Amino acid sequence: MIAPIERFDQLDLQAPILAALAEIGYETPSPIQAACIPHLLAGHDILGEAQTGTGKTAAFALPALDRVDLAQRNPQVLVLAPTRELAIQVAEAFQRYASKMPGFHVLPIYGGQSMVVQLRQLQRGAHVIVGTPGRVMDHLERKSLNLDNLTTLVLDEADEMLRMGFIDDVEWILEHTPTARQTALFSATMPDAIRRVAHRYLRDPKEIKIKAATATVSTIRQRFLQIAGPHKLDALTRILEVEDDFDAAIVFVRTKTATVELAEKLEARGYAAACLNGDMTQQLRERVIEQLKNETLDIVVATDVAARGIDVPRVSHVINYDIPYDTEAYVHRIGRTGRAGRSGNAILFVAPRENHLLRQIERATKQPIELLKLPSREAVADKRVAAFRQQVSEVLESEDLSFFLDVIAGIEEKQDVDVHEIAAALAFLAQKDRPLQMQDTGKPDIAQIAAGKTDRPVREPRENRGEILERRRDYAEGRLARYRIDVGREHMASPKDIVGAIANEAGIESRFIGQINLFEDYSTVELPADLSNDVVQILRRARVRQQPLNLRLASPEEASRERGRPAGRGAPPKKPFRKDGPPGGFSGGFKGPKKPKF
Ligand code: ADP
Ligand code: MG
Repeated sequence: MIAPIERFDQLDLQAPILAALAEIGYETPSPIQAACIPHLLAGHDILGEAQTGTGKTAAFALPALDRVDLAQRNPQVLVLAPTRELAIQVAEAFQRYASKMPGFHVLPIYGGQSMVVQLRQLQRGAHVIVGTPGRVMDHLERKSLNLDNLTTLVLDEADEMLRMGFIDDVEWILEHTPTARQTALFSATMPDAIRRVAHRYLRDPKEIKIKAATATVSTIRQRFLQIAGPHKLDALTRILEVEDDFDAAIVFVRTKTATVELAEKLEARGYAAACLNGDMTQQLRERVIEQLKNETLDIVVATDVAARGIDVPRVSHVINYDIPYDTEAYVHRIGRTGRAGRSGNAILFVAPRENHLLRQIERATKQPIELLKLPSREAVADKRVAAFRQQVSEVLESEDLSFFLDVIAGIEEKQDVDVHEIAAALAFLAQKDRPLQMQDTGKPDIAQIAAGKTDRPVREPRENRGEILERRRDYAEGRLARYRIDVGREHMASPKDIVGAIANEAGIESRFIGQINLFEDYSTVELPADLSNDVVQILRRARVRQQPLNLRLASPEEASRERGRPAGRGAPPKKPFRKDGPPGGFSGGFKGPKKPKF
């Protein structure tokens, strides 16, 4: 039995690496680091299973850096990561850990970045490449990435790569890299498909499994609220007002557009809120997270990808404003609260048609999710009055009020009014910014709506006739084309799911997404005819209900087929435009000639 490793200098790492760690301020290796680093330094393959936030990056980056030959400019280490965000994050970590290794160079490569720039960067050479599978494959095929000197290959977040449909690409890369390499595979979970890949491509790997520090979920109180789209904002503000232990929140929505819109609405209502999405530069995103940490911001409205890995202990609430697509996303989301040993709250908004997802999440997390009862308007007013009373009594107890007593005595004498009236006037002044009384707006109370006690029908806005005609014209003029995706009714997909996935994954605004026709095992969807190759690649792999979309142009027969009718009956689509826009309040149609910019 070897003594447990408690300090980094007990690991056989080079001095410049230890110096960098000391400067960053890591005191002790995390369990996955202590377990993996010695094996990796000794040249073994690793199969590592550990939750997010356990320090996997340093677990593979430090030993990899230790072995890098700085004189050699061909890539020696390749890390595959599922998303652009993660690739950048890992590359930045390498840079930090190598801050005392002059001349060290790491290069992130991912889709969406200019090829020209990337080719130039690759030509200049880098010791470490961190890339998304698709882009790495591209470069290997073009021979712009030479892996002849590769010594170490890391698959980071393998389960996520599987989930996003990259597993074939990953295997292809594994087959096209020198077999003499060392391979490390890290994953938060170990589904069979990943295990199979590991057995096939890893040589006698050391298996390391770190149990989740605590059952991540168990310190988190999970509740749900049954609420339809148009009422979500009111429900959210009610929750923010009444939650006792509220400090800061991350609110999850499905699309980038929705992050902006909701953050703006919250700001307009007086909350310190900002959005966080994949369109923002890394620098901007870091600033938002910094502001959340230093309490300049209390609410961040984010997409799944942008909020991945955020570690801000003061986040007391995660609000699933739009329900996540699957249970894994849910677990990742709620893991943003209850950090550093604190307790956390997760609240899930479930629209009427999303009940099956709620059950699915409960089954997967093996925890019941309680129904959240929204307090009524009166209860909120009572609460405000109680808080006010409390403030007053604290002031009476702790402050020296002699000066103010004189002022009041002066008012009483000069204006000849009763002290009660003076006190009431002061109370009025004190509450002006946040009224103690709730205004009766004449609308039904959101608490009643959420409890299903109002009979007002909830209507999703419909497209108007003009927009439909405009879109039909666009189609006729070739600005839109009809694509086929491999998900249909039998997969329980709804138009909303499809729009959400396309908008979120490819960053296509919903107004550029036209008619969707659902069939049994596939669907067709109108999208701009000039989609870039990158966007098409992303959409081939994007998933709805676990099904890869495998997007491609529809055949003429598929394109002319109407919903629910056999193919080939000719006539242009009648009235099949989707009624229900995606959540987050945008439901407009394709607005015509303005070209999308992708
Ligand atoms: P994972 O990849 O397992 O999700 P990361 O590698 O992203 O985790 O690390 C999560 C956070 O923990 C990062 O902010 C990282 O800087 C920090 N971290 C990693 N190792 C240590 C350590 N030994 N001591 C302190 N902080 C660490
Ligand atoms: Mg990681």
